[in-house]
Amino acid sequence: PNDTPLLTVDGIEATYNHAIVALHGVSLTVRQGEIRALLGANGAGKTTTLKAVSNLLPAERGKVTAGRIRFDGHDVARTGPADLVRLGLAQVLEGRHCFRSLSVEENLVTGGLGRGSGRADIARDLDRVYALFPRLRDKRATAAGLASGGEQQMTAIGRALMSRPRLLVLDEPSMGLAPLVVQGIFRALVALNRAEGLSILVAEQNSTIALRHAHRATVLENGAAVLEGSAAELRARDDIKTFYLGEG
Ligand code: ATP
Repeated sequence: PNDTPLLTVDGIEATYNHAIVALHGVSLTVRQGEIRALLGANGAGKTTTLKAVSNLLPAERGKVTAGRIRFDGHDVARTGPADLVRLGLAQVLEGRHCFRSLSVEENLVTGGLGRGSGRADIARDLDRVYALFPRLRDKRATAAGLASGGEQQMTAIGRALMSRPRLLVLDEPSMGLAPLVVQGIFRALVALNRAEGLSILVAEQNSTIALRHAHRATVLENGAAVLEGSAAELRARDDIKTFYLGEG
């Protein structure tokens, strides 16, 4: 990673339905080429933070009420979600969200459409995803709804990669998956980061796996960022799981 910030979240507050305060003071930076983990117990505000980053809160009757988010010099509040994807910010939502009746490959192709890619570009990008996740090549004609949980998560990540992001945002990629599958997914993310310098922001309840693969991490508690540091620093503090992550 270098020191240039790609994403800056600066003191944001957020509410749902003009009432529930979900965030009250979240700041974090993702630098170019960095893998940043966002940790926190259930309900700490990870998903809300990630949705704010992609300007997806309005679709949920949510709103950022204070603070500011900038992606690569753009004010996120003034940029629609689809424009953010075109600018290079792609998000894999919690729970994978594949189109269940479309094949794995059709799911992947949908990720390249917003960019207006031609046939040759799409073929090249598919090859890139299949090189990263060889299993998906074998399953490419299978309906995504019939694929395993791990294959669906890989499909959702692959679909995001089809938009050629510079920042990939993932909401709990480990959810519901076996440890070996989770490890495979994190290894693929690290490989992409090393090979292409792809910057990654990943929210995880599984702090062990996240801290093993990220460069730095931010810890959320009750809607506020309470701690941040290098993954090595946070790994060395055994109070974190008990105090902040509800893993006691
Ligand atoms: P999880 O791991 O369960 O996704 P999280 O850390 O991602 O937890 P959020 O989902 O961001 O936390 O939730 C933060 C707070 O906002 C919680 O109090 C939650 O109940 C509330 N909240 C989340 N989504 C909504 C919504 N769509 N409408 C109203 N309140 C919401």
